[in-house]
Amino acid sequence: MTQSKLNRALQTRIVRAEDRLTPGFESFSTPVTRASTVVFPDLATMRALDWKNDAQWRYGLHATPTSLVLAQRLATIEGGEHALLQPSGLSAISNVYFAFVKSGDDVLIPDNVYSPNRDHGDWLARDFGVSVRYYDPLIGAGIADLIQPNTRLIWLEAPGSVTMEVADVPAITAVARARGVVTAIDNTWSAGIGFRPFDHGVDISVQALTKYQSGGGDVLMGATITVDRELHFKLKSARMFMGIGVSSDDCSLILRSLPSMQLRFAEHDRAALSLAQWLKTRPEIAAVLHPALPDCPGHEFYERDFTGAGGLFSVVFDGRYSAAQIDTFCESLELFSLGWSWGGANSLVMPYDVASMRSPGKWPHRGTLVRFYIGLEDAADLRADIEQCLTGLAG
Ligand SMILES: *Cc1c(COP(=O)(O)O)cnc(C)c1O
Repeated sequence: MTQSKLNRALQTRIVRAEDRLTPGFESFSTPVTRASTVVFPDLATMRALDWKNDAQWRYGLHATPTSLVLAQRLATIEGGEHALLQPSGLSAISNVYFAFVKSGDDVLIPDNVYSPNRDHGDWLARDFGVSVRYYDPLIGAGIADLIQPNTRLIWLEAPGSVTMEVADVPAITAVARARGVVTAIDNTWSAGIGFRPFDHGVDISVQALTKYQSGGGDVLMGATITVDRELHFKLKSARMFMGIGVSSDDCSLILRSLPSMQLRFAEHDRAALSLAQWLKTRPEIAAVLHPALPDCPGHEFYERDFTGAGGLFSVVFDGRYSAAQIDTFCESLELFSLGWSWGGANSLVMPYDVASMRSPGKWPHRGTLVRFYIGLEDAADLRADIEQCLTGLAG
């Protein structure tokens, strides 16, 4: 240390600490690198920075070592090459819209899409001069008839996370590729484990990391994953313009949960499938909308393209029960809580008025839909809880 450095006041020496750590510390955890400012060794380095180069550090908003490690692992899970993180699943969806759609463009959205995605599309249609049209999630290759010269983006969600129709993804992406239209799938339901979108021709995979990747119900984050570099850069520049970034602390929470994700997913899947099969035998239930079961529209595409289902499925109650009775059923469950989001250890339940969420006349069932998220409680206890409340339904 030079004499002048030693002469500096204590306050300066605390702020500009000259820490000397022994190199070579290694552990299994990724260090949490919190940063807004990134310090450059000299101006030439700063001036030569290229925003397209993910390996260059520029500003904490764009990436830190912690966020980049998480992005790389997420890309690996789905077989992608690039990933970007956003502060929620919905902001990942928004990132896709603003990267690919401008006024005068047209977007196609499946009628069973995650409702806030639908609201986002409607907002762009209302205030930004974009045309947004909804399609039957089971349209398959018939999507060709809907594509217009100004169609820029086709959303997919397979299955839709409330009504569970499974789309014929490769049929839709083959048409989109031939017509030069970008496809984006909301792949949250499968966590990127049960379904590998890039093997089926999808351009962009969106994940709400809030769900299985977090696994704790305590972090909000989203991701966009791509194989194609140019698509990645379009997403990256829109993300930069919008000032979107994530906290390294949140990234480290997700990094901590990722190693157990496949095991958790398999256990959710096992318990949910056994409960779904049992519910199918109950006289109170008209249909079980679990993609691995034949009641579910698009079941054959699940069988062909998926390797697992996780913990989320829905049932439709017999039409003889009123919506108020189903509300009481949901509120009576002791081991299922009422709440949005899912992917953690705790089971959840929610009734939906699906007809009001759809294009008019597009929902075939009369009874109320109830969505279950099967957590990591003992499956026999969950079944006993449901059984008791079903028995309590007068009717
Ligand atoms: C939860 C969810 C999202 C949004 O995630 P947030 O982090 O809550 O914004 C998007 N798509 C699906 C299918 C979801 O379940």
